[in-house]
Amino acid sequence: MAEHVTESIIEHRDVWIFIEQESGLINPVGFELLGEGRRLADDLGDKLVAVILGRDVDELAGDVFARGADKVIIVDDPVLKDYRTYPYRAGLVKLVEKYHPRILLMGATTLGRDLASAVATEVRTGLTADCTELGIDPETKLLTQTRPAFGGNVMATILCRLSRPQMSTVRPRVFKLPPADCDRAGELINETLAISEDEVPTKVLEFRAHTDHSDVEIETADVIVAGGRGLGGAEGFGLLRELADALGGEVAASRPPVEMGWVAVDRQIGQTGKTVRPKLYVAVGISGAVQHAVGMQGSDVIVAINKDPEAPIFKLATYGIVGNLFEVVPALIEALAGVERTSSDVSCEVVEEDG
Ligand SMILES: Cc1cc2nc3c(=O)[nH]c(=O)nc-3n(C[C@H](O)[C@H](O)[C@H](O)COP(=O)(O)OP(=O)(O)OC[C@H]3O[C@@H](n4cnc5c(N)ncnc54)[C@H](O)[C@@H]3O)c2cc1C
Repeated sequence: MAEHVTESIIEHRDVWIFIEQESGLINPVGFELLGEGRRLADDLGDKLVAVILGRDVDELAGDVFARGADKVIIVDDPVLKDYRTYPYRAGLVKLVEKYHPRILLMGATTLGRDLASAVATEVRTGLTADCTELGIDPETKLLTQTRPAFGGNVMATILCRLSRPQMSTVRPRVFKLPPADCDRAGELINETLAISEDEVPTKVLEFRAHTDHSDVEIETADVIVAGGRGLGGAEGFGLLRELADALGGEVAASRPPVEMGWVAVDRQIGQTGKTVRPKLYVAVGISGAVQHAVGMQGSDVIVAINKDPEAPIFKLATYGIVGNLFEVVPALIEALAGVERTSSDVSCEVVEEDG
């Protein structure tokens, strides 16, 4: 065992980011992780390596270099066209066993959660899910993985001391999108998948769209107007919709309105809901419990409207309005015009380093 540990610490290097893509479209959480990974890699003196698995994914490398990767490893194979655990796990495990990364980060998406646990199990390492903060311990150089624990009442920092890679998943929007620099160059490595379609036990027959989904993309909204128990009922959310429309935003909620059936579950923000990082988050009749805060505290500007001046939400707020929401919100609707929305989409060609 001791021999294995020593070998692990000496041989493993580099910070890897798994870049999730679907039909050639990169999930932005991959870019967000590149931004954070860049900081970790610089701290360790490591390379930042992005890994892309899929079919016809070569052209994605340019965008990935632009967001900070030093190297991109691509496995392009027809078997990887649609996500299935078996071939993606096999592909990623093969790379981990060949290159021995120190750290492997993945998005806490449906795909990322599935793949991360399968890979961690196969390579016999630890996995910390849903991290809200990552860092490097200055003494041990271990990855510090912080996440809510015990029902969100404490933030626990977890270390993976013995096994490698140190693996974490992070939800979309926890980290900021790094700026794209289309002039950045990097090393492109093509690897092969060692398995054939015959070996894969699951087959994709067709895709069907969900019909029980409200089709809302809360995670990508620039403006979110969220309501809490203080709204008093579904009618209160009608008022909130008017405010959201005036701001060009989406309506979201804390957990009680979802539990009471006032709002659809895919609009819940927080530990057991979604994590968002909009330019503007308006919290109306929300107290600001830690389980809600972990889902919205990264927002650029937070405006809180609450009748209780002692409500914890005011500690997070950039601007606070103390008052009855049923007076404040109609006054805001009257006063507000729409806000302009900007796009952060950038597309870059592959720039490879000479030699
Ligand atoms: C394991 C676990 C996971 C959880 N996950 C989540 C999660 O993902 N998301 C989440 O949100 N919560 C979550 N919770 C619940 C969380 O602990 C809080 O109970 C919840 O966030 C409180 O919601 P709230 O702020 O809407 O309600 P309350 O705490 O009841 O606050 C209502 C606020 O409205 C104000 N108010 C009332 N009337 C008015 C008015 N007329 N005008 C202005 N202000 C008014 C009050 O002053 C009060 O501050 C979780 C809890 C646990 C244990």
